[in-house]
Amino acid sequence: MMTGRRQQHEAWMRRALEVSGTGPGDLGAVGPAGDAADRAREVAAEDVPVGAVIYGPDGTELATARNERERTGDPTAHAEVLALRRAASVVGAWRLTGCTLVVTLEPCTMCAGALVLARISTLVFGAWEPKTGAVGSLWDVVRDRRLNHRPEVYGGVLEAECAAALRAFFR
Ligand SMILES: [Zn+2]
Repeated sequence: MMTGRRQQHEAWMRRALEVSGTGPGDLGAVGPAGDAADRAREVAAEDVPVGAVIYGPDGTELATARNERERTGDPTAHAEVLALRRAASVVGAWRLTGCTLVVTLEPCTMCAGALVLARISTLVFGAWEPKTGAVGSLWDVVRDRRLNHRPEVYGGVLEAECAAALRAFFR
């Protein structure tokens, strides 16, 4: 049975939300102090919960990632960049033509640039990010007419749910 594009995008966004986690509670209870694994969970819990999933041309899930900047201490460890790296490694090539990147928050300039470089064909994002968004809010990196590759963009998918998950983290 055929699923409409909108339903498909919403189902994929629910998966991205699941990947993002929604805060400390989702990472498991923190045990006795001093345990390295617990400390790692605590640090991971400090990461802004952004989730990304990449689907292949046939709709197969290729890779998932969560923002890991705090956990890894890597300024470039945004969910989208990690997901692009993982998907490229699964595919065995840097070119992700035909693939769809689904992310719970409007990508920043780095991630927007990275997904264009990876030749992602479709971008689906959830909440708008008026402070740093590079897919329409502050800049529009992915639809710049000077670029020879411009993905199709669907923004604001399950926007309320995605925004609520982020608000819960910052509260
Ligand atoms: Zn980013």
